[in-house]
Amino acid sequence: MADNEDALRAMQNCFHSQFSVDEAEYEDIEENRRTSVDEDSIYLGCTLSQSFNPDFHHSPVIKMGWLHKTPPQGTLVFQKRWVMLDAQYLRYFQNEKEVYSKRIIAILSVTKVLNVGGQKFEVVTRNRTFLFRAENNTVREEWVSVLKETIQQHCNSMEKSLMNSSDTRGQRASRVSLISKQGYLEMSGLRSKLYVVICADSVFLYRNAEEHSQGVGITSIEMNLGTVKGTDKRSFNLTTIYRTFSFVAESEQQREQWVEVLQACVSHSLSSNAVAQKIWSEEANQRCADCGAPHPDWASVNLCVVLCKCCAGVHRGLGQSVSKVRSLKMDENAWTENQLFLLLGNDKVNLFWAANIPPSEMLCPSSDSEERQRFVTAKYCQGKYRCYHALFGQQEALNKALCNTIQTGDVLETLSLVFCGADVNCYTGDPELPSPVSVAQHYGQTLQVEFLTHNHNTELPGSRAGDHTILEAALPISHTGYLFKTASSTRAVTERKSKGDFSRRWCSLNQGNFSYYESEKSSSQSGQMKMSDVLCLVVNPQGKHGYGHSFELYHDSGRVYLFGEDSPDTVREWIKVIGKALVPPVAEDLVGWSFERVGRLRYTVGQSFHCPCLGWFSLGGSRLLLLLHGEDQVDNIDLRKLQELSVEQEAGAVVLVDRGRRLRLEGDRRPDYQGWLSGIQQGLGRGDGPLDQQQLTETEVPVIVDRCISYITQHGLKSEGIYRRCGVNSKIAALLLSLRHDARQVRLSEGVCQVDNVANVLKRFLREVGEGVFNGHQASLPWLHTTTVSERRERVSQYKALLHSLPPVNRATLGAVINHLYCVQCFADENQMNMHNLAIVFGPTLFQTDGTDNSAGQVVEELIQNYQDIFNVNAEQLQRQLDMISHVIKAQEEHAEEGTPSPLTICGIYLERKEEGSELLVQISQAVSAEELVCEVLRRGNIPPQQGDYWSCFLVNDNQEMERPLHYQERALAIYFSLGKDCHLVVKRNCYMEAMLIYIAAMVDVSRNSMIKFSDEKGQRGKRTFSRRLCVLDGTSLRLYKEVKSTQPERECQVHALKVYYGIKKRLQPPSCWGMTVVCEQAERDKQQWYLCCESKNELIKWLATFMNLQHNSDLCPAASRPDS
Ligand SMILES: [Zn+2]
Repeated sequence: MADNEDALRAMQNCFHSQFSVDEAEYEDIEENRRTSVDEDSIYLGCTLSQSFNPDFHHSPVIKMGWLHKTPPQGTLVFQKRWVMLDAQYLRYFQNEKEVYSKRIIAILSVTKVLNVGGQKFEVVTRNRTFLFRAENNTVREEWVSVLKETIQQHCNSMEKSLMNSSDTRGQRASRVSLISKQGYLEMSGLRSKLYVVICADSVFLYRNAEEHSQGVGITSIEMNLGTVKGTDKRSFNLTTIYRTFSFVAESEQQREQWVEVLQACVSHSLSSNAVAQKIWSEEANQRCADCGAPHPDWASVNLCVVLCKCCAGVHRGLGQSVSKVRSLKMDENAWTENQLFLLLGNDKVNLFWAANIPPSEMLCPSSDSEERQRFVTAKYCQGKYRCYHALFGQQEALNKALCNTIQTGDVLETLSLVFCGADVNCYTGDPELPSPVSVAQHYGQTLQVEFLTHNHNTELPGSRAGDHTILEAALPISHTGYLFKTASSTRAVTERKSKGDFSRRWCSLNQGNFSYYESEKSSSQSGQMKMSDVLCLVVNPQGKHGYGHSFELYHDSGRVYLFGEDSPDTVREWIKVIGKALVPPVAEDLVGWSFERVGRLRYTVGQSFHCPCLGWFSLGGSRLLLLLHGEDQVDNIDLRKLQELSVEQEAGAVVLVDRGRRLRLEGDRRPDYQGWLSGIQQGLGRGDGPLDQQQLTETEVPVIVDRCISYITQHGLKSEGIYRRCGVNSKIAALLLSLRHDARQVRLSEGVCQVDNVANVLKRFLREVGEGVFNGHQASLPWLHTTTVSERRERVSQYKALLHSLPPVNRATLGAVINHLYCVQCFADENQMNMHNLAIVFGPTLFQTDGTDNSAGQVVEELIQNYQDIFNVNAEQLQRQLDMISHVIKAQEEHAEEGTPSPLTICGIYLERKEEGSELLVQISQAVSAEELVCEVLRRGNIPPQQGDYWSCFLVNDNQEMERPLHYQERALAIYFSLGKDCHLVVKRNCYMEAMLIYIAAMVDVSRNSMIKFSDEKGQRGKRTFSRRLCVLDGTSLRLYKEVKSTQPERECQVHALKVYYGIKKRLQPPSCWGMTVVCEQAERDKQQWYLCCESKNELIKWLATFMNLQHNSDLCPAASRPDS
C-alpha cells in the first residue's frame, strides 16, 4: 500500500515537472539522437523521481533488472540498460526511472532465446538479434528461462485463441484487427517521421513501417488517463500523465482522423468495468456521495466515498493530502481491497460527512462547478457538515478510543474518530504494537489497516495550510497572575455567574500557551490551551458576573472558558496580553483599542462562496476592525454606514455590505458566532440613540436627516410656509417611529400633506435626539454667547472654531441642515420662508430650547447667512447644487402648466443593483414604457447600448429572492405606484434573454409539457414541500397534474392572468436554484402563488421562454436589440 502511494507521489512529481521542462526535453531528444545513433532508437526522456513501480504498469511485470546490451552494430561496447518483461513485451530503458522504453520487442516476434556463453544471451527475432550480458551466470539463467517460459505461454495462449476463432490467417491477423489506425507522423523535436500505430488502448511508436511488421518498436504509450487535443491545423498533442507528445499530421483531414481515433482509444481504456460493478453491488454506491449523480465511477480511497467524475475532479483539486482519488475503471491495481467500499458504502459514510447539511447548500447532479467546489471544500476541507464525535476536542480520549476501535471491525467509528481529530500515528502505549496500524494488523483487521494506511498523512478538516500561516506568527508574550475561573462549558455563558461559581487559579501565559494551576506552587497544571487554538476573546461588560471584570476564551474544541477578577487593572492587563498573543503581529491594531471581542472567523468576499479564507476581526461599538487573508493592514468598517446586513439563519452566516463590498462571515456552528452576530447588530445604529449612534450616510449624516432633507428638496421647496405648518400629528409620529426603527428601509411616498409631515419629522427628530446637534447643553452655550460679539468677522471666526470642536457626526449633521436651510431660503419668494423665518423655527429646534431665548434663532440665522464662510463651502459647488434643484422644480412646473393629464413623477430607480449611490431619480409620465425607462436610466448612468446586451427593468422584492423583468411595452409608472413596501425597480442586464430568444427562434411547438417540482406553500412550514407534477403550458392555460395519467388538472390558470418571476423564496427551500414563482391573478380575491422548480438552467430558460412567448406573441424584446436586426 505504502509503495503504491510513493509511486503515486512520484508520478505526480513527474507530472508537475513535465510541463515546465518540455522545451528542455526536446533538446534532450535531439541531443540523444546525436549521441546514441548507434542505439538505433530514440530516447523519449521522461523520468520518475524514483524507481518505476511495476504496480503502475498496465500489465503485470514478470521480471525486471539491469542487463548490459550491445548496440545493434555489434561493436561489443556494452551499455547498461534497465530491462523489463511482461507477458506481451520485452522492453529496455535508459535507466530504472524512465517511463518510456528505448526499445520494445513483441514476444510473439521472438523466435528463440540462446545462451551464448560469458554471461551473455541472445534474444532472436525474425530480422534481428539482441545481445544481452548479465552480471553473472545465475542472473543470465534466470532471464533465459523466464524468457523461454513467457514465449511458450504466449504461443499457447495464441493457439488457444486461434482454436476459438474462425480466423485462420494466423497470429498476426488477430493482432491487426485491434489496430485502429497506423501511419507516419512528425513528432516535434525529431527530424525523421515516426510510424505510429494505435492498437487497442495503446499507441506504439516505430522508426518505420518495416519495424512495425518485424514487431520491434521504440516504445508504447498507454492511453489510460490520456487526453488528445488539436493544437493547430495539422498538429495535435497527446498528453499522458507523464508527458506531452506533439505530433504533426500530413493534412488537416489526417489530423482530424488521428485525433478522433486517439480519443476513441482513450475511452476504450476507460471501459474496464469490473471494479465498478463490484463496488456498485452495494446499492448506496450507485449514487455519487456528494451530488447524487448515478453510476459514480471514481472514489476517494481515504475519505471512503464513491464519486462521480465532476466531484472527483474537485476532490483531485484539493490535493492528495485531503482526498486520494482513484478511478474505479482505470486503476485496477489500486483496487485489490475494495471490500472497504462494500462494507461502508456512501450512505453510511455520509452519516458522518454529511450529517448536517443545510438544504440550501445541498449539491445536485446539475450543480455547477462553483457550487461543487464550494460544497466539497466545506464538506471535506472544513468538515462543516460532519457529525462531531462526542470526544471532539479531547485529543487523548480520541486517540485512546481509536486504539480500541481498530481492534474491532467498526471502520465507520474509526473514520469518525480520525476525521474528528484522533491521531492515526499516535503512540498506543504498547511498545510491542506501538502504532494503531500495528494494532489493527495484530488483530487481523485488514480493512482497518487499509483505512489507516490511506490516512496516515491526511490533512484533517479545518486545518488547511492557509490557516496555519496566519496562526504561526503570534508574538512571544508572557504574563502570570491569579484569576478566578468557572468550569468550562460548551456554549457562551449567558447567565450570571456568582462569585461562588468561580475558583481561584494561578494563570500563566507563556510561549503561546495559556495554563492554569491550583496555586502558584502547584507543579502540575489543571488546564492548558494553546493560544493558536483560541478562536475568540470576549471582554464582558462590567458587572456581568459576580467578579466585576471578566472575559471569555472560546476554544477550537467548542469549549468556553470564563475568567474574572474584581480589579479592573488586573483584567485589563490580561486582556491586553492575551489579545496580543492571539493575533498575528501584523494585526496588532486589532487589539490596541477598547474592543469587545477579537478573534478569527472564516469569510468570503463578493459573490463567490467557495474556499472561505480565515480573517481576524475585532469588534467594539460600531467599529469592526478586520485583517483579511493576505492583507498586511487592518481595515475598518463603520457598522453605522453598512448598506446592508442580512443574516443567513439557516447557514449560520452574516452578510455585510460595506462601501459596495460584500463580506460573508461564517459562523461554522461555533458558540462564538452568536456573540459576533449580536455585536454586529448592536453596532448598526439605532434611531433612539444620540446622533453618533444613528445609521449614517457616507458623509456621516444620520440617514433620517438625509432622507427628510432630500424629500423636502424634491417636493417642498416651493411649498408655502414649509417648516412652519404643523402637519398631521399621528402621521408625523408614525413616520418618525418607522424611520427610527430602520431609516434605510423607509420609502417616503408622495401625498398632499406629506411635505409638512416630513418637515415636522425632521424638526422633531432634531429636537429630540439625545444631546442634540450642538452636543449637549453645556457645549451649546458658547454658540449662544457668540451672538453678543459685536464684530461680524469676529463672530464668524468664533462659529468656525466652535464648529471645529464638534464631534464629526454633529458637525456633518449641522452642515447638512444649514445647507438645506440655505437652499430653502433661496426659494423664499415662493415658500415665504426667508432666513429669519427659518431661524425662528430652527433656533429652538437645534438648540433644543423652549424658544424664550432669542439668541438661538440669531445663531441659526447667522449660520445660514454666513453659510459659505463658516462651513468653508465653494461658491461654485453651491451654485451647481442650486441649479440642479431649480432644474427638478422647473421640470415639474412645466408639466403642471401644460396641464398634461399625467404629470411627471420622479421615481427612484436603481441601476444594476440596489445599493447606496445606485439610485437614479428619473421623471416619468403615465405613458412611459419599460423600454423608454430602461433607455433613460442607461443614458443617465452613461451606459452606451451594446449589441448583445439585453437590459430590462426588473421588479425586485426586497430580499432580492424573486424578480420579474417587465415586458418592454409595460407601463412603468403604474408598476412603480403598485410597488409594495418591500419592492423596488432596478434596471439591469437580463441574463436569460439571449438564451430565450435562441430557444424561441428554434421552437416549433408553442407549448410545453414536462415534469416539474411544485409547491404552493400550503404544506408544513419549514419542511420541504416540493413534489413532482406534470406541468402543461399552452396558448390557453397553465395546468398542473398530480400524475401523468390524471385527466383533471390539480391547478389551472389562464395564461393572461399569470405573472412569472425568476426565483423562489429561499425560505421554501427550493430543491434547486432554477426556480420560478408564478403569480396567478385570475380573480381579485384569489391571488395564488405557485412555485415551480427546474432541474437545470436550461430547463428554466425553456419554461421562461415559453411563458414569455405565449404572453407576448414572440415579441420578447424591442426590435432594435434583437440579434437579427
Ligand atoms: Zn458528484
